[in-house]
Order: sequence, then structure tokens, then C-alpha cells
Amino acid sequence: LVSREQHPDRSVVHVRGVPIGPDTLTLIAGPCAVETPEQTLAAARMAQRAGATLLRGGAFKPRTSPYAFQGLGELGLKILADVRTETGLPIVTEVLSAHEVEMVASYADMLQVGTRNMQNFTLLREVGAAGKPVMLKRGMNATIEEWLMAAEYIAQRGNLSIVLCERGIRTFETATRNTLDVSAVPVAQRLSHLPVIVDPSHSGGRRDLVLPLARAGIVAGSDGVIVDVHPDPATALCDGPQALVEEDLTDLSRTIEDLSVYM
Ligand code: PEP
Repeated sequence: LVSREQHPDRSVVHVRGVPIGPDTLTLIAGPCAVETPEQTLAAARMAQRAGATLLRGGAFKPRTSPYAFQGLGELGLKILADVRTETGLPIVTEVLSAHEVEMVASYADMLQVGTRNMQNFTLLREVGAAGKPVMLKRGMNATIEEWLMAAEYIAQRGNLSIVLCERGIRTFETATRNTLDVSAVPVAQRLSHLPVIVDPSHSGGRRDLVLPLARAGIVAGSDGVIVDVHPDPATALCDGPQALVEEDLTDLSRTIEDLSVYM
């Protein structure tokens, strides 16, 4: 269902009217985690000023340590919904478990399946039946074939509104958190008709790498970029070191404008 052999034309996925696909370069930005209404609104305003058309934000956070901030849960979703009302930005947010899909989908405009859940087949089936567009992040240890098969689980339930997100894979390299696999962008686009975007925030894990990695992804043909932003990264409860501040965002939007010739 997701193979390009069946659908030679590349697909466009619409998230509350916002297109992701060929001929557009969609910027999705927002806080890694929803912390407070004020922080989320400030991050959303930053995102909007930079030209973002979708707001990201985690209410359920998949943290390596059980002692790290786990997200505000449903309260975080309510904050996101309020910020959507305030800004008009549709929201993309992660769902961690199959039994929470219906509840998360009642707030979200796009459901995110994170790298750690890419092969959670029960979750994939549930999001496939939820009637909302899905952003499927590549598993950090997954091959492109496995990633596309995961997308197939969602598609099998009748949902072809799937955006693939390359967010870095595990390699022997320790200088970055993960290695952004730039080649995955054209490879996945040749094998599948689904849009492919990149996440330069979670792959590098470092603010200074976000812009170069975003550039690399765009030049490789990415249909969009998803980045973390925070009004005060030093106080962030999650992934502060990779969050962009206002001036980085200005650079990013300039980069997107300059590189749109490569679309
Ligand atoms: C995220 O986008 O908030 C996230 C946790 O990403 P990943 O699943 O790629 O680590």
C-alpha cells in the first residue's frame, strides 16, 4: 500500500489543511515537551514567526530514564489544544501506547509514533484506525525496509495519511546522539509514495548541528523539517541542549527560503 510501485505519484498528506509532500517544504516546530501554558504558547509564537505551519509538542514523553520528566499527559494535550485555538497552528503530538490512541487523537491533528515505538505493531494498528494523519519516525535501529513495513501496518487499517520522518539512526559514532541518515530521504522517496521529512533536532541532539543537518536534509529532497524550539532552553525539562532559540529560528527560516529551489 505504501509502495511507489502501486502509486507512482508521490502523495501529499494534509494535516488540517496544511500540506506535507512534494512541492512544499513544511516547517514543523515547537517544544520537545509541553511544560506550561506560557512556555508552550511562547514556543508556538516563535515557531509561527519562523514560518512554521504545524506545532509539535510532547505531552507523553518516551524518556530513557524513568526518573526524567515524563510529560504532563492529558493536561499537556489540553494546553496544546488551547495554544492551537490561540495561534491557529494544528498540533502534532506523540502517542506512546495503543490504549491511549483514542484519547490522544481527540486532541491531536497528527499522531506521532516515535522511534522507540516504530515496531510496536499493536500501536501501529490502532493509529491506523484512528482517522488522523500519522507521523512515523524511523526506528533508530531500523532499516528502511523495516520502516516502510511499519508504515504498511498503518496503511493496512485504511489510513494512507502517513508522513515518514528520518530522525537519525544508531551508528558507531558517539560525537552526535544519532546519525542523520540523509540517504534515507531519497531512498524512501523512491520506494514509497509517502512524504519524507527530517528531524535534525533529535538526530544530532545539539543546537549547533540543527541548521547544518536541516540543510542537508532539505538538499537531499526532504518534504519538511521538524525542530525543537524553546523560549528558555536552559530551563527546559526535556532536551534543552537541542532546542532552537529565536535567532536560530530566523536562520532556519532564511535557510528554508534559500534552499526552496531544491524542492
Ligand atoms: C520527539 O520527537 O519528541 C521524540 C522523542 O523523537 P524520537 O522518537 O525521534 O526520539
